[in-house]
Amino acid sequence: MNKKQNDKVVLVLCHNDLRLHDNATLVKAAKQAESGHLLLAYAANLTNELNQKAWGQSYHFDKLGDARQQFLNESLADLNASLNNLGNRLLYLSQEGSEHNHNAFAQLSELIEQQQVSDIFVSDTADYAQIKIYNLLRAKYPDIAWHSESINTLYPKMPTKKLPQSFTQFRKKVEYDQDLLKADTDLEITKIPTTLPPLPEALIDASKYALQLPKINKSANPAKDQPEYKGGESAALEHLERYFSSAAPSSYKITRNALDEWTHSTKFSAWLANGTLSVKVLLNRLRQYEREVVANGSTYWIWFELLWREYFYWYALEHQQDLFLFKGISDHRPSNRHNQQRLESWQKGETKYPIVNACMQQLNHTGYMSNRGRQIVASCFIHELGLDWRYGAAYFEQQLIDYDVASNWGNWQYLAGVGADPRGCRQFNLKKQTQQHDPNGEFINKWLS
Ligand SMILES: Cc1cc2nc3c(=O)[nH]c(=O)nc-3n(C[C@H](O)[C@H](O)[C@H](O)COP(=O)(O)OP(=O)(O)OC[C@H]3O[C@@H](n4cnc5c(N)ncnc54)[C@H](O)[C@@H]3O)c2cc1C
Repeated sequence: MNKKQNDKVVLVLCHNDLRLHDNATLVKAAKQAESGHLLLAYAANLTNELNQKAWGQSYHFDKLGDARQQFLNESLADLNASLNNLGNRLLYLSQEGSEHNHNAFAQLSELIEQQQVSDIFVSDTADYAQIKIYNLLRAKYPDIAWHSESINTLYPKMPTKKLPQSFTQFRKKVEYDQDLLKADTDLEITKIPTTLPPLPEALIDASKYALQLPKINKSANPAKDQPEYKGGESAALEHLERYFSSAAPSSYKITRNALDEWTHSTKFSAWLANGTLSVKVLLNRLRQYEREVVANGSTYWIWFELLWREYFYWYALEHQQDLFLFKGISDHRPSNRHNQQRLESWQKGETKYPIVNACMQQLNHTGYMSNRGRQIVASCFIHELGLDWRYGAAYFEQQLIDYDVASNWGNWQYLAGVGADPRGCRQFNLKKQTQQHDPNGEFINKWLS
């Protein structure tokens, strides 16, 4: 065997791909490291400094919300356990775990240099700050071979030549393209590896990169009821099977706007967001349900919503930093303003609108809010409170267990009238929304009592 091949030290930088199933990034990295060594690293807060520089002190935050942190912790612990079974482990890089209080980027650089990494593998992402980090690494280490795999979207490339200006145009293009639709019925899934190349000797037992996850202050946020969310690939795959073994998919379109019920929408978003669930595996399971149980307007609508996710992914890639601009991708600046006191009343669920307050309490306690709830509180934020939409988006970023840069900032732009909505700003009538979605006040009572 050629000496160079033997010496390969391959690093996988994990980000939104915290799984073994359908993970071409991992499988290709393992192949590249065959008879060499494989490192899998997760760097916490890697983009924090970049974001802080970009946003200044305004709407940047230092600490994730408890629920989001807990979901991430569970996801990383589950991945680490799976890697242990395959003879490897997850290297965890964080400022707290660093001897010299190095930030995550400095630690990553140290790891790359000390281990003489020959190749870096990442999964494609639409996260602007994460892409910036990758570009910094590529510039710093031009001799390291760089590999990137698409594993988090239904389509490996944007399915249309140009990004259409609206979701409807995008959907129509996809629906009228028979080849795309045919490919949709049975997507090719990458097999789970049965073994992995080992870590370099010096890192096998090293405590330096041990998984020391931030502790959650549970007492600060007692859950109203036991949320059924648990982070990690194992829980994601269990949920997938449970959901499609139930009758819920066949009535999704009728129930999806409910504010609180677990089975009324699919609840896949959090696992999709950090890559503990493959969207292709999800779509194949939906198609199987359609073949074996029923294909109706509801199962179509699950696909429709997954296509929204897809649209925002390509939208974020296309618009890059404009995703975070006050004027978004439009040519006008809204007249709204930042106001700290009003922002805090919204965050704490202390506005004069009970429906908004209940939704915000739900978010603060569980890290989740229904799609209708998000539309209601965002509309109130923009219209009734007259606030700068980016502060609302940043609060969602901190709290949501399913935070996804493209879906979050894309949806906020859309509602603020500075994004991909041909109809302009959308205002929800809070009284009507309450009558329609909480006619007996059960939701409000539950979260405000
Ligand atoms: C202001 C605002 C912020 C949002 N922020 C996020 C976010 O950070 N992360 C996130 O995943 N979703 C976000 N959404 C979209 C949507 O609210 C959630 O995806 C959905 O509520 C998650 O619950 P579910 O998995 O039960 O969704 P379901 O209704 O069951 O939908 C199935 C899947 O389709 C996708 N999806 C559904 N609606 C949308 C949508 N409007 N945009 C993009 N994808 C969608 C999700 O992946 C979801 O899991 C946001 C929506 C709004 C209005």
